[in-house]
Parts: sequence; structure tokens; C-alpha cells
Amino acid sequence: MDDAVKSDAVKIHPAVDNGIPPAIPGFAGGTLTCRCSSKPVTVEIGSQVAHNHVCGCTKCWKPDGSLFSQIAVVGRDKVAVTANEDKLQVVDDTATIQRHACRDCGVHMYGRIENTAHAFYGLDFVHTELSKEKGWSPPEFAAFVSSIIESGARPENMGAVRARLNELGLPPYDALSPPLMDAISTHVAKARGVLKDAQA
Ligand SMILES: [Zn+2]
Ligand SMILES: [Zn+2]
Repeated sequence: MDDAVKSDAVKIHPAVDNGIPPAIPGFAGGTLTCRCSSKPVTVEIGSQVAHNHVCGCTKCWKPDGSLFSQIAVVGRDKVAVTANEDKLQVVDDTATIQRHACRDCGVHMYGRIENTAHAFYGLDFVHTELSKEKGWSPPEFAAFVSSIIESGARPENMGAVRARLNELGLPPYDALSPPLMDAISTHVAKARGVLKDAQA
């Protein structure tokens, strides 16, 4: 292997580059705060999150200089905007996930699916790094890895990026993880009447 970049020189995301802290048993949520120094938007998350992962797509919010975003899901009934909601606006109202971003600092505070027929309806997407609390479920995989090229990552460095993700224990996929892709297809198959006895 002759990658242009050594894998440990690859920066994936600040929350994983120096090791990934474990979840704390019994952890029950926290407060996400945008990056505004005055009148920040705050969002209360009332439970632990699930399916945390790093994402290479071009739509999720990433900190400056980061190749990936870090994003998890939580029940929409556990998400409440608690301050300065008037600063939130939807980034792209034609997207499946309606990403509510602070109009001043640009941080995405939560993403919501409004299509009740969608496999993930009822789940919101949140960036746990916006919280000071420790104990969130850590990222478990890397989604949409090839898509970082669309944000300017060098194609010849992708081997090093995937090697680094594997080193960190974040198996790289070019869509979502197999269990989540299976969940989406199972939902579609049930909706179409193809699968009548699925257990998923
Ligand atoms: Zn802000
Ligand atoms: Zn994404």
C-alpha cells in the first residue's frame, strides 16, 4: 500500500481523532448549544441517542476543517428547543431531513423528517458534540465515506481515510451501515406488500 497520506495523519472529526470516549450507563441526555457568543440557541435532548456515527455527506453540518460530521438519532419527542428558537431556519426545505440551523453561526441544531411514510419518521438527527455533558453513545461507524470527495477531499487519499476509520473502530460504508440500510429496505418492502412476515 502506498497511500499519499499516513492514516494517523488523517483528521476525521475532533470528537474521534484523539480516541472515542465510551457511553456512560444510565446517561439520560443533555443540552445542545449553538456557537453564538450571545443569545445562543439551546436544544434539550431528553434521552440517550442511538446510531451515532460520523457522516461524509455534503448536507450534515461539520465543524470547520473537519472531513466528517458526527451525527446521532433520538426520538423527536425527546427534542425541545429551549432558547432563541427564532434564530432557527430550515437549511433546505426540499431535503428529506429538515435541518434546523442557527442563522447567525450556521450550526445545525436538529434535523427532522416530516414525511410520515419515511422509515426514520419519528427520529431527529442531532450533533452530540454541541453538548458539554459526557456520556453520549459514541459513534459506531462511518457513513457516506466516498461523499467527502464532493466536499474537496482528495480521491487519492481515500485509502488512508478508510484505514484511519478502521483503526478508530468506525467501519467505513459508502451509504448508511448495513443494519440501517436493511431497516430502510424492510420498511419499503412492507409498505409495498412485498414482505408480509418480516420481523424487523
Ligand atoms: Zn448560533
Ligand atoms: Zn450526513
